[in-house]
Amino acid sequence: MPIRDFANQFVCDLVAYEPGKPIEETARELGLNPASIVKVASNENPLGPSPLAKEAIRAAIDQAHIYPDGGGFKLRTAIAGNLKLDISNIILGNGSNEIIELLCHTFLNRDAELIAAKHAFVVYKLMATLFGAKYVEVDDPDFIHDLDAMADAITENTRLIFIANPNNPTGTQVTHEAIKRFVNRLPEHAIAVFDEAYFEFLETPPDILKYVREGKNVIVLRTFSKIHGLAALRIGYGIAPAAIIDLLQKARQPFNTNAIAQAAALAAINDHDHIAKTKANNQQGLAFYEKAFTDRDLKFVPSSANFILVEVGDGDRVFKEMLKQGVIVRAMSGYKLNDWIRISIGTPAENNRALTVLDSVLSK
Ligand SMILES: *Cc1c(COP(=O)(O)O)cnc(C)c1O
Repeated sequence: MPIRDFANQFVCDLVAYEPGKPIEETARELGLNPASIVKVASNENPLGPSPLAKEAIRAAIDQAHIYPDGGGFKLRTAIAGNLKLDISNIILGNGSNEIIELLCHTFLNRDAELIAAKHAFVVYKLMATLFGAKYVEVDDPDFIHDLDAMADAITENTRLIFIANPNNPTGTQVTHEAIKRFVNRLPEHAIAVFDEAYFEFLETPPDILKYVREGKNVIVLRTFSKIHGLAALRIGYGIAPAAIIDLLQKARQPFNTNAIAQAAALAAINDHDHIAKTKANNQQGLAFYEKAFTDRDLKFVPSSANFILVEVGDGDRVFKEMLKQGVIVRAMSGYKLNDWIRISIGTPAENNRALTVLDSVLSK
């Protein structure tokens, strides 16, 4: 028998995550100069890493031969201090994506159910599948999570409910009132996971930490990959009541986050200048695209994050044609949004280039 017959069936059935196309790969395949390529496909920070983080990285290199502090004491203390919580409320992850996996390790099995919205971040479905759990998808009218319907979908087998706020790839938010109603309906056997990867871009962010302080079954996920510009280092964190964090700590690898990432994150978290500049650039870029799409009669989803979803006809074709001209966007067929592409907000020059190339592709 072939080796796959001895593997877990859920792993065989899995469709692997397709990340944004890397610049180097695109350059190789199309014979382009990497420096001429614009990547607006993975919601990265177009201004680069926090300058304070870069300094901290250089300093941390001298200790690269020493295992990191697996408990991440300094960084967790700093995060907890900023949030007026205790270090026991914080866990670090190899990207916040790892914390999604730790939650699944801790709470899922073949009888368990995970609830998410129809156009939710695809990693939730991937993880549910990997753990053999049942993935329950709830409709999201106008691309907005319907938290009342998601609460209605809770059964005695539900363990995790994922709420990406704002969501990727839609950029939409849920209202503070909807969150309040939802949290009040949480049973003792289920955890609400508020994935706040784009939290720092919000104008009026919801206060989910209030529920953490109240000891509700709630965890908040945040990351250094987006506004702080440290996606390559893979570091994020979870914030929850200590009873939840204690369990997740058992499920992680001893050295799941590395020392260089910890040092960079520690510097980035209080780099208010870089955060403010990134946010201002993002607001300007969102306004630029909203006006451009309105002028061109292209349907788009108003976004609260650092990317925008726009309807362009055959999204796979537009993706490929834009690629040939050196602009990498994200096709959305993996989300069954075949007519849409997602464009990350870049610098003004990158936004202009992406729009010019989109125009040329759509005029063909
Ligand atoms: C980008 C993103 C993350 C963050 O992933 P990292 O593993 O921290 O890089 C998490 N959730 C959503 C919805 C995202 O879009």
